[in-house]
Amino acid sequence: MVTLDDLQVRSLGTSTIDSPLALYVGGRETNEYYVGETDRILYDDTLELIAARGVPLEELPTFEAGGPRRKIFFDPATTRVGVVTCGGLCPGLNDVIRAIVLELDTHYGVRDVVGFQHGYAGMVESNGHEIVSLTPEYVARINERGGTILGSSRGAQDPGLIVDRLVELGIDILMVIGGDGSMRGAHNIGAEIERRGLTIGIVGVPKTIDNDIPHIGQSFGFSTAFAKAAESIKAARVEVEAAVGGVAIVKVMGRHAGFIACYAALANHDADFVLIPEVQFSLDGDNGLLSLLSRRVRERGSAVIVLAEGAGQDLIPASDRTDASGNAVLGDIAGFLRDQITKDFANRGQALTMRYFNPGYAIRSVPADASDSVYCTRLAQTAVHAAMAGRTDMVVGRRRHRFVNVPIPFVTSGSHSVSPDGDLWLSVLESTAQPFSMS
Ligand code: ATP
Ligand code: MG
Repeated sequence: MVTLDDLQVRSLGTSTIDSPLALYVGGRETNEYYVGETDRILYDDTLELIAARGVPLEELPTFEAGGPRRKIFFDPATTRVGVVTCGGLCPGLNDVIRAIVLELDTHYGVRDVVGFQHGYAGMVESNGHEIVSLTPEYVARINERGGTILGSSRGAQDPGLIVDRLVELGIDILMVIGGDGSMRGAHNIGAEIERRGLTIGIVGVPKTIDNDIPHIGQSFGFSTAFAKAAESIKAARVEVEAAVGGVAIVKVMGRHAGFIACYAALANHDADFVLIPEVQFSLDGDNGLLSLLSRRVRERGSAVIVLAEGAGQDLIPASDRTDASGNAVLGDIAGFLRDQITKDFANRGQALTMRYFNPGYAIRSVPADASDSVYCTRLAQTAVHAAMAGRTDMVVGRRRHRFVNVPIPFVTSGSHSVSPDGDLWLSVLESTAQPFSMS
């Protein structure tokens, strides 16, 4: 049960410095721009949920509103900010870096921003990565490129050595753009800072191409990613329709959450089956994938399967390998399905032309589309407002169209996935006409 305490964002101290916003908007009345401390955003989104809590209004779980504050904690003239990107690539990373630098410069007048290269590894001095000076000129057009101009990495790093480096470089605020692992890392760095009694803020912009970080709304880059995946599904549809007994498997990202598969499939209704980690399926039996697929190809001439990489892992031997950050390496479900389908169609004496599409890296590496660029910019601006106001150990998110500040432990304590009983999965079933249960 979520409580108000879970949602309290930590501050480094009392904010005493007047925000430069008044200067910035030319002496206009600025009240309407500032967020107030009482302007909190409800966690629950239905009257029923609120009523069920049976607590007074002020005890309801609510988020701190994101946005500019009347008083700030850090003096822009002397503030030095570091930026780091960690984990896998995702559309929009460069938009976030750019917007952090521009917001610091334009709104707050912070001129000293540096980038660490190759993730947390680049923050450990002995790894020998130079820091980069991030000026408005340097970042001006980086949003036109995919990837991250700072580079990224996986693998554990000692938070003690990272804090040593922050102190040595005189960094006041560290902005971390990364996934669940990066946010756990950021929390550990924040804990080490607190243990040493330092006043260094850590603010994250959560990155997850799988859209699997909970409570923050849709993650940046997700809509660009599924639009790109939808292009491959469309191409697959064209291929299978031209072939005799055409069957395509389109493998998309989604280790534990099938959001990309679901949204990409819904984008153009070209999928016949969507397989995601959250919904188990069998191969055999009348209601298993192989029979259903055979029938679909007989009835319609072809079929397209959209496969999230983490789907059907219970059907193949577990891999005991892990990547540098300790994440389990998934088994090759696409290869397994290809073999099984080929064998099954041969046994049935049914014609088959198998096509395999793996757009994974192409999806990750594209620049953000216009909508994601706007979203990245606004998330980054929210993160800068929070950081300048002395907030720490937190990430930004957007709940029901309101930007919010959220404590890191709250977003790393669980993960977001497609509910098999929810309306998204129902939409997918309606679009594909695949049965509710394939087992
Ligand atoms: P994604 O999974 O979306 O690619 P991520 O941020 O989860 O992004 P990881 O490779 O898991 O990617 O982690 C990135 C960095 O975060 C690593 O360099 C590692 O040092 C750190 N990290 C990962 N997991 C943890 C953890 N449990 N505790 C502390 N630090 C972690
Ligand atoms: Mg991760």
